[in-house]
Amino acid sequence: DSIVTLIDVEKSFGKNQVVKKMNIEVKQGEFLTLLGPSGCGKTTTLRMIAGFEEASSGIIKVQGESIEDKEPFERDVNTVFQNYALFPHMSVFDNIAYALKIRKRPKDEIAARVNEMLNLVQLKGYEKRKPEALSGGQKQRVAIARALINNPKVLLLDEPLGALDLKLRKQMQVELKRLQKKLGITFIYVTHDQEEALTMSDRIAIMNEGIIEQLDTPREIYDRPVTKFVAGFIGESNILDGKVTAVNDEILDVETPAGTLRVKGNGFRIGESIHVSIRPEYINVSINPVEGFSLKGRIKDFIYMGTVVKTAVDMKDNSELKYSRFEKDDDFEEGDSVQISWNPERAVAIK
Ligand code: ADP
Ligand code: MG
Repeated sequence: DSIVTLIDVEKSFGKNQVVKKMNIEVKQGEFLTLLGPSGCGKTTTLRMIAGFEEASSGIIKVQGESIEDKEPFERDVNTVFQNYALFPHMSVFDNIAYALKIRKRPKDEIAARVNEMLNLVQLKGYEKRKPEALSGGQKQRVAIARALINNPKVLLLDEPLGALDLKLRKQMQVELKRLQKKLGITFIYVTHDQEEALTMSDRIAIMNEGIIEQLDTPREIYDRPVTKFVAGFIGESNILDGKVTAVNDEILDVETPAGTLRVKGNGFRIGESIHVSIRPEYINVSINPVEGFSLKGRIKDFIYMGTVVKTAVDMKDNSELKYSRFEKDDDFEEGDSVQISWNPERAVAIK
């Protein structure tokens, strides 16, 4: 039941290969996000799905049909861009009505559909305005209404909230997610903002230099990153590099410059070089010795952030470990010698 399928899709501009062997199956009604740093190939991927750009090799199918077989206007796919791309000389009504007008739909049908869309994006009463008389958030709502009016099966959105300020962006994230759920339309959404991706998506494809490093639910990506890049890109993480020195019941001893630590992992061998990712919130800090393993450190500083306190610990190799806590009564002071530990199941071993 996949609605959009990419099979070994590649794209080169001259000698520059920007998308490499990409495979994705987007499910019907899913909110799937392409997330990655600027220049990793997100827009190019979206433009290929939209049919604005031709793949150098591979196959792209929408509802089981290859997209090359269809003219752009025949495709059940619409796109919303960051810069809205509204027609400046047209009213809100005419902007939203555009797709039905060029299809020469009857006037009363157009009026009824536009009305429905105005209600959907909460812009009733704005139909006569020109885009220049709208705020950024309102313009983006018009762009979304315009893209939804002909009932596309799939909506592609390329950093649609990128031009909005933080507060409005957060509000629109929630609105857009609700809208998507309500309509049941498949969204393929592009952003470089990891928090936005975690907030909105059913699944996230993490892209790096034209490759999908991981495609999974937000929770799996956060808790079980499969590459060092993903661990570092999503959320805050401490990443320690080391060598496996012992393996007992899927718990690895790993020798690192900061000391020997423990992490759960299977399929690793003694002597293998690995990375260990541990989230700041899973780190325990204590003055007293702890059972199991511990690393020695010294409290460096506290950053009070309202709901959490973030702390850095200097390790013996001069690296720095971040940890965060929700209890705010400070039981440590800067300069205190402490023992760092964690539940090995909370840390992630990465090849
Ligand atoms: P993202 O959206 O992730 O920031 P893009 O898909 O826009 O990345 O770009 C990926 C790479 O492809 C970049 O290096 C960019 O310069 C290059 N690129 C994109 N479009 C073109 C084009 N039309 N011609 C040449 N290079 C391009
Ligand atoms: Mg882009």
